[in-house]
Amino acid sequence: MNVEIPHMEQSLPQIRQLDAAAANRIAAGEVVERPASAVKELVENALDAGASRIDIAYADGGKRLIRVTDDGCGIPGNQMELALSRHATSKIDGHDLTHILTFGFRGEALPSLGAVGRLTLKSRARGSGEAHELTVRGGESHGLRPTALARGTVVELEGLFSATPARLKFMRTDRAEAQAINDVVRRLAMAAPDVAFSLTDMTNPGAVKSVLSLNAETGDLFDGLRGRLRGIMGPEFVENAIRIEAEREGLRLSGFAALPTYSRGAAVSQYFFVNGRPVRDKQLFGALRAAYGDVLSRDRHPVAALFVDCDPEIVDVNVHPAKAEVRFREPGLVRGLVVGTIKQSLAESGHRSSTTASAGMLGAFRSAQRPVQPMERTTPRISQSVYSSPEPAPEMLGGTAWSGRVEPDDAPDMAGDVDVVERPVHEGLPLGVARAQIHENYVVAQTEDGMVLVDQHAAHERLVYERLKAQYAKNGIASQMLLIPDIVELDDAARARLLDAQEDLADLGLVFETFGGNALCLRETPAILGEVDGNDLLRGIADALAEGTDRAGLAARIDAVLSSMACHGSVRSGRRMSGQEMNALLREMEATPLSGTCNHGRPTFVELKLADIEKLFGRR
Ligand code: ADP
Ligand code: MG
Repeated sequence: MNVEIPHMEQSLPQIRQLDAAAANRIAAGEVVERPASAVKELVENALDAGASRIDIAYADGGKRLIRVTDDGCGIPGNQMELALSRHATSKIDGHDLTHILTFGFRGEALPSLGAVGRLTLKSRARGSGEAHELTVRGGESHGLRPTALARGTVVELEGLFSATPARLKFMRTDRAEAQAINDVVRRLAMAAPDVAFSLTDMTNPGAVKSVLSLNAETGDLFDGLRGRLRGIMGPEFVENAIRIEAEREGLRLSGFAALPTYSRGAAVSQYFFVNGRPVRDKQLFGALRAAYGDVLSRDRHPVAALFVDCDPEIVDVNVHPAKAEVRFREPGLVRGLVVGTIKQSLAESGHRSSTTASAGMLGAFRSAQRPVQPMERTTPRISQSVYSSPEPAPEMLGGTAWSGRVEPDDAPDMAGDVDVVERPVHEGLPLGVARAQIHENYVVAQTEDGMVLVDQHAAHERLVYERLKAQYAKNGIASQMLLIPDIVELDDAARARLLDAQEDLADLGLVFETFGGNALCLRETPAILGEVDGNDLLRGIADALAEGTDRAGLAARIDAVLSSMACHGSVRSGRRMSGQEMNALLREMEATPLSGTCNHGRPTFVELKLADIEKLFGRR
């Protein structure tokens, strides 16, 4: 191809060196995108300086004022000018970029901030008898002078972006900028639990607002972190989170991850730190999502605060101007560690279920305490929808395998039997002993120190799913031949998807063939599902396959199909169960990993402690 170089007759472009002010302003474009990025740089500097307390103040979403005060090591007067010049840093020697353990190392923040706002730097170096102050206006620094300051450093930034009106136009509302500042400070505060933080909104001098106030946390690594997370992510997160800790090939993963039942509608509560640095890394978010793929539906998002620590040599933090992303030398290893550890920890947490459900339940009970209307004080209505189980025989409590299929007629009619427990048969049984089934879907069980209410459909679904997965992993899913094949009419797309996966589905116990027109003839179904509606089952699986295509890999597709099968084969609400069956269900739940949540991330049971019951009745 012929490239034509434009012929310039009048003036050839001149190449010249940019002056420092222009270079700084250009660099600032990358480093200081918005007020929150300025706050991030300044707080990171304070942390790098070894501060034990950092106070942050802002006005008008940071546009009018940002001030960060710390009690760190300070800067000697004779180095303050240098600190404000480009590429000046005390954190690396300029040769080795592979051992970075500080937040900063580029020496760009202070000069960049000086180029986009009026910057005042006050500092007193540790051990020095005097403090100094320096101002930068339009990139020019003005006279170093003595000032009064007991310790540490104060950096004040006023009129951010007033020198670059184009950038100012892109700022969002003060509220949005304040929110972003808040977010940055929270992330950094999680990374440094042993440092006290405060964040103050000074927009309205008459009503100065404290936005965040955190004391320094003490205790061991996990206690300190737990305390800080409680302060930032809320006590509910901590109560519903499991501790994560694992190490593999020089990589360490630690932190807390919430139970699937404590999930969010958006990916807003996911925090990752790499060597103490908050990052928003797509790979890590992806790994978290994959770890919960099995226990959360696609519209729910896990909540977690996770810390990856490793030799700085195996991770490159210098791939993003604001250092929000990192590059691991072996990304597969990190992903494997995150996915594997969380999956295993969730499985080990077994049948634990979110406490929020029981908190909400308590609230529901409380709301029943409203004053009784006189109207209601007529003849009490006694309803007998309660089906109580007989005193369970010992073998029911451990032995009897639950058939997985419950026919309505299996349940002997024992309603009305009064059930008195004389010995503590529930000892050592976390889910207790079944006492009753109510509304044909909820099993009420008595535990050692309270009661649980089990959603039998949700629980069954999880158990069947886990059984299907176990069978599949072992020697394939056993199928059963239908006496009369089911002819199922489908739309083109669904039929095509099923035929595409025909062989794989046969391995999953689902055998069908074409049957003229748009129909498929279903011949075999997984035996474990019992009698199912072939129509529903095939349609559900076609949907699961459609969803599965954008998920990674065959394994995820298989899980999606098995999950859909489990849903179709599950005990629907409205089936009576015998006491024996209810107890078998509870025992199998105890023995099954992840049985605390159904395949869609809803809890399979909620628990009400005796203490809570006593509170409801004002006994405590
Ligand atoms: P970097 O953090 O990449 O080194 P900066 O421009 O942010 O670059 O800071 C330049 C230098 O100024 C730092 O290396 C550090 O020596 C000094 N400095 C900045 N802020 C502080 C602070 N709050 N306390 C002590 N020293 C600081
Ligand atoms: Mg810095």
